[in-house]
Amino acid sequence: MDYKALADILFPHVTQTPEEVEARYPARDLPEGAKVTRMAPSPTGFMHLGNLYGAITDERLAHQSGGVFYLRIEDTDQKREVEGGVEKILEVFSEYGLPFDEGATLDGDNGAYGPYRQRQRAGMYQVFGKWLVEQGKAYPCFCSEEELAAIREKQAAAKENFGYYGKYALHRDLSMEEIEAKLAQSGGVFVLRFRSEGDTERRVKFTDLVKGNMEFPENDQDIVLLKSDGIPTYHFAHVVDDHLMRTTHVVRGEEWLPTLPVHVQLFQAMGWRLPKYIHTAQLMKMDGGSKRKLSKRKDPELALDYYREQGYTVACLKEYLMTLLNSNFEEWRIANPAAPLDAFPFNVKKMGVSGSLFDLDKLIDISKNVVSRLTAEEAYDLLAAWAQRYDTEFAALLTRDPAYSKAILAIGRGGKKPRKDIAVWGEAKAYMDFFFDELFQPEYAWPENATGAAAKQILEAYAGDFALPEDSGAWFDGVKALAASLGYAADMKLYKQNPTEYPGNVGDVSMVLRVAVTGRQNSPDLFEVMKLLGADRVKARFNRAIASL
Ligand code: GLU
Repeated sequence: MDYKALADILFPHVTQTPEEVEARYPARDLPEGAKVTRMAPSPTGFMHLGNLYGAITDERLAHQSGGVFYLRIEDTDQKREVEGGVEKILEVFSEYGLPFDEGATLDGDNGAYGPYRQRQRAGMYQVFGKWLVEQGKAYPCFCSEEELAAIREKQAAAKENFGYYGKYALHRDLSMEEIEAKLAQSGGVFVLRFRSEGDTERRVKFTDLVKGNMEFPENDQDIVLLKSDGIPTYHFAHVVDDHLMRTTHVVRGEEWLPTLPVHVQLFQAMGWRLPKYIHTAQLMKMDGGSKRKLSKRKDPELALDYYREQGYTVACLKEYLMTLLNSNFEEWRIANPAAPLDAFPFNVKKMGVSGSLFDLDKLIDISKNVVSRLTAEEAYDLLAAWAQRYDTEFAALLTRDPAYSKAILAIGRGGKKPRKDIAVWGEAKAYMDFFFDELFQPEYAWPENATGAAAKQILEAYAGDFALPEDSGAWFDGVKALAASLGYAADMKLYKQNPTEYPGNVGDVSMVLRVAVTGRQNSPDLFEVMKLLGADRVKARFNRAIASL
């Protein structure tokens, strides 16, 4: 067979040579050891935790080594693409502070190794497809869906592996005349298949930087390189792009491991150096006592949108993912509580080999810590931004008097043991709504020892000549005096010795006041609350509570 002639028949429009394409993608001018990584999402409109997990790895590997982190849009599957998919990808990475050094942007490309959208690279894959045909390493296939289905049936009946290989590869050895006839019939349409020389009896050895040394059977399938519209499959695009764009480290989900023998084989066929691979562990969750993969259908928490809607801080989600990514991160965090996340020395050797367990409760816990360490100012900015998007009514109240809102958020903040009431911004309203008269809807649950008439008596006595106390010492002294005057135990020790002698204690008295002012039993420091509300509003709340009794 004259492969050169075949290549010209199949790709008459392809005039560029591989050398010409290569010349446009010279070796990158980077310091020794600098890593080049890429994020290669498909614009399906669905961005998930796994994307972020991989992107953090990519970004850290590149930027810690003085290398390049770039974005390539894998849009070869038009059926899965959604309108706005690329915008969504860009938005997510900018939100999570993972800056690309080059790649696709909203209005074109940034960088010398583009185009960064695969469909725009179609001509290039065809150059290399043609080149493989010239060497007898690829061939056209004209099999229809029906023929492929018939092959499958035969394989099922014979209990043999499925796929297009060996004796089942019907068009692998067509003659030039047969090919010409089929081309005439199909109007020039064909898919380009790889001519595999692999044998499943032989093993291919291979090292993944996380999983270590591995062995797989060789690939014997004549996989599709170019689909009938001339657009490549993932396999071929991966090999061509990561070679030309000079990727040194391919970080991707471990669902790609089974096809790794194909990729190794293709790199060899092209005569190109294999990049280093890191196949990241699947994110798992506990479900009824057993571990399973996070699923798009069952687990809303797989989608990155979920975290934005709930109001998780970006810092928190990244922090949490880092605990899953590097086993020594938590230890480092304890030793460096205030250090920025990027100060952590990310290490591939500390990555987990098998499924990472995603634990929402732990994320919530970390989240509470992260939020508690924010300044009131930072908390206000983040909360207001969240509310503008997800609760505009609350946003209007929050931003009406920013100083007031910041003062609310300042209560219990700072210091060694900051309060940890809020994990996500979606919880903030329920935590602080009583500070806003418009939202104040008290549910008066009086303490057991001071309900009904007793609560009323306490409130009437306290509200009578109410003025804001000087400081929290004075406030509590006042409450004690009130307790004593009504026969409640002002001293907890005495109370514990003889509880039956009193209707209740000073704790019950202050609880009554808390319930009246905040409408709940659980609130931040009551003196601070009253100070912020001001004497008039506090008095009004006492009166409202009294009226309810
Ligand atoms: N487009 C592929 C995906 O979204 C990328 C895999 C890779 O990073 O190579 O799964």
